[in-house]
Amino acid sequence: MKKILVTGGLGFIGSHTVVELLNANFDVVIIDDLSNSKIEVLDSIQEITGKKPDFFNIDLRVKEKVNHFFSENHIDGIIHFAAFKAVGESVQKPLDYYENNIGSLVYLLQEMRDRKLDNFIFSSSCTVYGQADELPITENAPIKPAESPYGNTKQIGEEIIKDTCKANGLNAIALRYFNPIGAHDTAKIGELPLGVPQNLIPYVTQTAAGIREQLSIFGDDYDTPDGTAIRDYIHVVDLAKAHIAALQRLIEKKNDTNFEFFNVGTGKGSSVLEIVKAFENTTQQNLNYKIVGRREGDVTAAYADTTIANEQLGWKTEKTLEEALLSAWKWQEKQ
Ligand code: UDP
Repeated sequence: MKKILVTGGLGFIGSHTVVELLNANFDVVIIDDLSNSKIEVLDSIQEITGKKPDFFNIDLRVKEKVNHFFSENHIDGIIHFAAFKAVGESVQKPLDYYENNIGSLVYLLQEMRDRKLDNFIFSSSCTVYGQADELPITENAPIKPAESPYGNTKQIGEEIIKDTCKANGLNAIALRYFNPIGAHDTAKIGELPLGVPQNLIPYVTQTAAGIREQLSIFGDDYDTPDGTAIRDYIHVVDLAKAHIAALQRLIEKKNDTNFEFFNVGTGKGSSVLEIVKAFENTTQQNLNYKIVGRREGDVTAAYADTTIANEQLGWKTEKTLEEALLSAWKWQEKQ
């Protein structure tokens, strides 16, 4: 049985990926420092899968601890989620973001190099494309200057991995996520935003639940059919499964080059207003919302061309937007 290290494995995307790994009969060890997750998620993973992964509370910024972990655990592959992810906060605290997101990546790769470990999956983001010149966005679209330190850590992260693959023969895949939403069908794991949600769907579900008074829609003067911005919202379980496909590609040595990157989205764009309407229709909830000004740094439209991911990874999305919104709502109701 292959043993896979999942860093940030108790977080939103990490926990769903751990479930899919366990379902696919991988042995899983989680590293998470609980800075943006809860230890109870470990029990929920066990309830869903009947298996309890090994867990280590390690801050990956502490090189000695990372080194010690690898000296005691043999690892066949790493899926690296652990990172800070709040765009606005990254503008206020850039050094925290560079230290955490870049430092931990470097320490992991150093261990892989020194111990001749292989198979690395990196959480990247469609933010690397900025406002793409052409839609849908293919993997060949140029990388645009980052809008935030957070976005920059994803760009720099990919560069670091690419250079390491070239110099040290490591095999890696970066998955460029579009907008992950939803929760597990069991409603046992889902997104747990700290404080006021920054992302659309948790804000929507918290507003419907009465925790927030009103959703603010950031701008209705974009150059889109209804004036609100367009994104590609992907069910987190579909996204989790893309990681299993990418990992299997590396383990089976089916990769074409030793650093590859794929878009992970649905291929379909939805505007903010379309999301609001779809949420109201699927959940039978009324959503209190108002239109406000644009949010700084937001692009007009981003949605994926998933042709390459579909063909190369042998993966495609299985769930609908409505299923994703309903699962997000069921998860919210349980909180
Ligand atoms: N958005 C919004 N109100 C909110 C949060 C988000 O109108 O309270 C919009 C945001 O401007 C963007 C879309 O919803 O057009 C998705 O935003 P999110 O922060 O979820 O993801 P992003 O695409 O920025 O990574």
